[in-house]
Formats: sequence, structure tokens, C-alpha cells
Amino acid sequence: MKNLCALVIALLTSISSYTQTTYLHCGHLLDMTSDNVKEEMTVVVEKGMIADVLRGYKEAADTVQVIDLRDKYVCPGFMDMHVHIEHESNKNRYMEKFSMNKSDVALGAVKYCQRTLMAGFTTVRDLGGTGVNVSLRKAIARGDIDGPRIYTAEKSLATTGGHADPSNGVRDDLKGNPGPKDGVINSVEDAYKAVRQRYKNGADCIKITATGGVLSVAKDGQGPQFTVEEVEAVVAAAKDYGYVTAAHAHGAEGIKRAVLGGIHSIEHGTKMTQEVMDLMVERGTYLVPTISAGLFVAEKAKIPGYYPSIIVPKALEIGPQIQNTFAKAYKHGVKIAFGTDAGVSPHGENAKEFTYMTEVGMSNYEALKCATVNAADLLNVSDVLGTIQKGRYADMVGFDENPLENIAITEKVSFVMKNGTQYK
Ligand SMILES: [Zn+2]
Repeated sequence: MKNLCALVIALLTSISSYTQTTYLHCGHLLDMTSDNVKEEMTVVVEKGMIADVLRGYKEAADTVQVIDLRDKYVCPGFMDMHVHIEHESNKNRYMEKFSMNKSDVALGAVKYCQRTLMAGFTTVRDLGGTGVNVSLRKAIARGDIDGPRIYTAEKSLATTGGHADPSNGVRDDLKGNPGPKDGVINSVEDAYKAVRQRYKNGADCIKITATGGVLSVAKDGQGPQFTVEEVEAVVAAAKDYGYVTAAHAHGAEGIKRAVLGGIHSIEHGTKMTQEVMDLMVERGTYLVPTISAGLFVAEKAKIPGYYPSIIVPKALEIGPQIQNTFAKAYKHGVKIAFGTDAGVSPHGENAKEFTYMTEVGMSNYEALKCATVNAADLLNVSDVLGTIQKGRYADMVGFDENPLENIAITEKVSFVMKNGTQYK
């Protein structure tokens, strides 16, 4: 009986916190429907959603919780379209693959999830890990650990020997023969199998590695690794499950094939040509720049022993080019969504990307739009994320200064709310 009473009380308490109405009194509201900062606004939050946005500071009844943000600039929660939440770069990273169990990976990643959320990134797209990323998404959704809302690709899809073939750099007798189940494909049929396996494993989106990559233990960092037919098959299979697709790509030929195959976003895009940019504009393909990762790997490659020697020349060559490519693509009219590749660079420093974007010609407002409106558009979730409007998830961040005037203030977030729960 005592236990039953406790259960009822616990249930009522959890229901009441869920049904609690909260007013956010926002001094300056940048709702991202325009670059207009609205003064003295009230955001009404109910059941984790934005129930209304009202002019003035609405007076609250006793039952309503009020959060005083009258001295803050409030924006929608930020969205990073390219992270790897399971891991973080360090000089032992290449040994971890052999020494860490999945449980070790999961427990280690708890702090990356927390850091990301506390940096004001309330949503991330995880573009490849071991499957622990699916468990992290579930643990966060259940409220067991603090972290951003995760959309995950689970395991990236590669071709044999390509970037994200899990047996790269492994000695011969341990290599095995990874196939679609492990995210390695070599035909149209394999593409379908691999995408369906991701669905079975609990993925939310699909990622392919359309060219070589910097951090794989393999020589080529930019050559094409998928045929157009294989990309088309991945995209078609993904469409059956409502999945958005992303392609890691550095070299122009691989980018072109991915765009022609119908991929939704090109990640990095390092060596894109005018022809490729024209194609991307025509097709509405997004670029997710990841300048942060480029600068980070180029810097670390100068430290002897930080990366295996096969990686160093690739990091030194490709890393520094990404910022410049981003600037060109932006001026060319290519659609941009915010992404850092955090995991390659440290988790929780995601907002540095805003500075990297604005220092080569993007306006502060456009950069903020990449991490809100555009990211939501890329994920196909504009109805619930990306702006502060009625019917959206109550994901909001606050700053002591106006990010439209000082973009670096985004690195010092002073208020974080996700799904109606205040974390900072
Ligand atoms: Zn990545």
C-alpha cells in the first residue's frame, strides 16, 4: 500500500511538471523568422512545446512558473548537422577502436552529450559511429542523461577500403570481410541492404562516404568511392523510410556523383568546382562546411605522433581549404547548414564555427540561420524546430549580448532550454 501511494505521488509529480505552464519573459527575442529583434516578449511553454509568443511581459498566475530573461537575447536552440557524439579526438584515438568495449564508448560519451547541450546545441545530427549513438539518443529521450536531441545515421556507409570501412588499418587476419550489415557496400543491391539494416538498427538518417577522407587509415583523402548508381540506390532506399541523406565528400568528382545521385547534403565539400556549385544550386543540395574540423586537423597534424603518419599529409592539405571553399560556395548561392564535425574537433566548442563562417563574409544573421532555420529545413523538421513560434519544441538559448552584433557571444551561452526543461 505504501509503495502504491509512493507510485501515485511520483506519477502525479511527473504529470504536473509535464503540464506546468512556464512563461519566459524575454527582453530581446530573435525568433529567426526575420532578423528583427523583438523587445519585451513572453514565450509561453506547455508540455515541452511553445504554446504561444506574446507581446509584453504577460502576468503570471500563481500556478505559472516565470523565467526572467529580461536582460537576455533569446534565440532558438542551435542545431549542429555534423557531429560524432560517441568519440572525441585524442592522440590514442586509433587504439581505442581495439581497446574500448561499446559500454566504454557509451559511458565516455555521456560527457560529450552534456557538453554539447550546455553549449546551447539542443539538436545534433550524428553522422556516424558504432551504434552506441542510437543508445545515446534513447537515453537522452528517456531523460536518463542530459544531451541534445539526436538524429543519428548509426553507422556510415562506405565501399570496400573506403573512408568508414571499419577494417581500414587493421592487420589482415583481423580484417574480416565487412558487408552491408557493417556498412560496406559494393552494388545497388548492397545499398538497399545496408540502408534497411540501418533502419533495423534504429537510425534516423543515412550517411555515405562519397570520397576518401582525412582521418581514415588509407592513402587517398579525396578520390571518388561510390558510383552514381550506388548513390541513387542509397537515396532511393532511404526515401522509403523518410530518411534524409548526407555525403562526406572532399574531391570534386565524388561530390558531383553524390549530388547527381540525389544526396541532400554534402559534408565538407573541400574541392568543389564552379560546375559542382552550379549543380548544387540547381538541385537545392545543402553544403555542411565543418570549418572547425578542417582547422583542427591541420593544427594537430603539426604535432608529431598525434595522427598516424599516413594521415598527416592529408590533414595538412585538405584541412585549411575548407573555410575558403565555404566562402566561395556561400557567395555562389549554395544553401548552407551549420555543421562542425565535433568529435574530430572537441565537443562543446561547436559555436566557434559561427566565427569561422562570419570571418569570411557571412553575416551574423545568416550564420545563425544556418544553425536554426536551414538546419531544420535540411532535416525536414521545420514544423517543429528552427524558430521560436507557436507549435515548435521549446528549445531556446539566451545570451548576455546581441549575437547579431557580437557573434562570439554564442560561445558563452547563459540560458539553455530543451523541450521545455531548463538546463542552464
Ligand atoms: Zn564527420
